Amino acid sequence: MSESRVVVVGSINMDLVARSPRIPHAGETVIGGDFRTVPGGKGANQAVAAARMGVKVRMLGRVGVDAFGDQLLDNLSGSGVDIACIRRAAQAASGIALIMVDDAGMNSILVAPGANMLLSPADMDAADPILASAQVMLAQLEIPLETVVRAAQIAHAHGVKVVLNPAPAQPLPLELTRLVDVLVPNEFEAALLTGLPVGSDDQIQEAATALRATGAADVIITLGGRGALLATAGGFQHFPAFLVKPIDTTAAGDAFVGSLGAALAEGRPLEEAMYWGSAAGALSTTKKGAQPSMPERSEVEALLK
Ligand code: ADP
Repeated sequence: MSESRVVVVGSINMDLVARSPRIPHAGETVIGGDFRTVPGGKGANQAVAAARMGVKVRMLGRVGVDAFGDQLLDNLSGSGVDIACIRRAAQAASGIALIMVDDAGMNSILVAPGANMLLSPADMDAADPILASAQVMLAQLEIPLETVVRAAQIAHAHGVKVVLNPAPAQPLPLELTRLVDVLVPNEFEAALLTGLPVGSDDQIQEAATALRATGAADVIITLGGRGALLATAGGFQHFPAFLVKPIDTTAAGDAFVGSLGAALAEGRPLEEAMYWGSAAGALSTTKKGAQPSMPERSEVEALLK
């Protein structure tokens, strides 16, 4: 394992996934099919994705004092993520997502964030040395926004690269965006954040320019099977997607961000980290589920050859 370190500030959820012939209406009961519990949460997904690249990953997050909390922590540490700084909240349940999938493959998702929402700015202050010890901090928006802001302030003050995946999209204060080194929305989040259309390549470039104008140094807009756009002070660069046979695109973005963050922590230039993110994103679509689909470093290296 290398000494490169990533710290992830974010959500940890248990996904409760049930199949059903159709999504029930309000007030209706439908007898469904298969049920599974799958560890998720964008923060945890990205932490696992980065850990699979072989860098040291610490996670700052919160779970409840409940059975899901136990399972989520076991799963993270089993995936190589350092869980020493994940605190347990007695006042709230572990975060969960209730996911119903119908026969047409359509999802209906309710997230009850629970303990994730108790991760506070004061927790970030207490974790100052942990944040300072990393090369890269990864954050998303499934925890309180003020906590993300505080984490970014501390990381930035220590010269730690701040990578923000603004998902789920919500308006971002300038005090946050100006601290961001790499902002990584998907195309839908880019549209929501800018209020601009993203239907054509030109429009996607305009959205990236608008996001850079908020102070984020570099912007990556991920485009699913069409790859990703990198916008820097030097201009635009399009990175095509690796050709794979996708079977489940869940958490492709998390695989991309986690692997990109690991590559940046190893000191690779952003253009090279784009290839690592793209390869991990593509590989994650060839396996089912979120965390189980995160590729190993050897698989990413093989695809990059
Ligand atoms: P999100 O999961 O956040 O919506 P995307 O769907 O944009 O994110 O996927 C992130 C990255 O994963 C893409 O930029 C691309 O590199 C890779 N990727 C996603 N879907 C595919 C696909 N069908 N084939 C190859 N690569 C893909």
